[in-house]
Amino acid sequence: MERTTERLVARAADLGFDLAGVAAAGPAPGAERLRTWLAAGMHGTMGSMARTADLRADPRTVLPGCRSVVVVAMSYHTNRPASREALAGNPGTVWISRYAWGRDYHRVLKKRLVRLGRWLATEASGSDWRAFVDTGPVLEREWAERAGLGWIGKNGCLINRRLGSELFLGVLLTTAALEPTPPATDHCGRCTACLDACPADAFPRPGVVDARRCIAALTVEHRGPIAPELRPAIGRTVAGCDVCQEVCPWNRRAPADRHPEFAPAPHRYLPALETLEALDEEGWREWRRGSPLGRIPFESLERNLAIARENLERERGEAGASPR
Ligand code: SF4
Repeated sequence: MERTTERLVARAADLGFDLAGVAAAGPAPGAERLRTWLAAGMHGTMGSMARTADLRADPRTVLPGCRSVVVVAMSYHTNRPASREALAGNPGTVWISRYAWGRDYHRVLKKRLVRLGRWLATEASGSDWRAFVDTGPVLEREWAERAGLGWIGKNGCLINRRLGSELFLGVLLTTAALEPTPPATDHCGRCTACLDACPADAFPRPGVVDARRCIAALTVEHRGPIAPELRPAIGRTVAGCDVCQEVCPWNRRAPADRHPEFAPAPHRYLPALETLEALDEEGWREWRRGSPLGRIPFESLERNLAIARENLERERGEAGASPR
């Protein structure tokens, strides 16, 4: 169905997706790597990764009769300064990751993906489909690489040569047999900027992220206390972490602000630590409303704020102690 793939990619562009591609369904690329990663315990407390490993290993277990995997992407890249620079210039503020500045990408992408699925079910009459944005049992980045949207960089993110790596991904599993689009090739070369910049040393090998150390995983997904030796590396980051993407040369020239949905809500860009500390549970729910920060329960927010406070006080102490 070569024509259908072409039309699908065009339809995805009409729906506002920046990228779209197709891979033939079968054993998932990266399934073995996932098993090795899980066996090493690098998923930390993200038990759902282990529980869904069998489903992730083959999309045909998720959608019986699945023959194609459609992957789409939308950019959330902006030209705002890098986190370390922004925090250094704004004492007393904290960092909320770029992906969470705008509207909840799960909703934005899912709505469009459902429309794409319905369109495809008409084009390939009788075909069945299921749509996932981030939370489904699908290896999105690996399928995105196979479908040619980009390559998985040494920082574990999907990188597109034109758009960089600040991309939200969505996957449509379909029983329609579509012509695949060519897979992507790797363009990291000899660069190691992300590996060198990670404040928490979370990359035991290029392309392998140890979620037990990754600041994004710790602040967003991890429940419970964070080990004292990791707390200084978190700095004043309260949700997510952007460092390994901010240093990536492929994000330097990426076009910015492509989608108004993901434009920064002013209160989520560099908020004052004190503003967040003053929130109660209801206040936090209101503050994060409409954003993807629903994955951070109030207890995790309190934990993250306490770490940011510790680190801010230490910074202040060091600044006070430095010779003039
Ligand atoms: S910073 Fe360099 S090594 Fe890391 S993902 Fe980007 S290009 Fe690849």
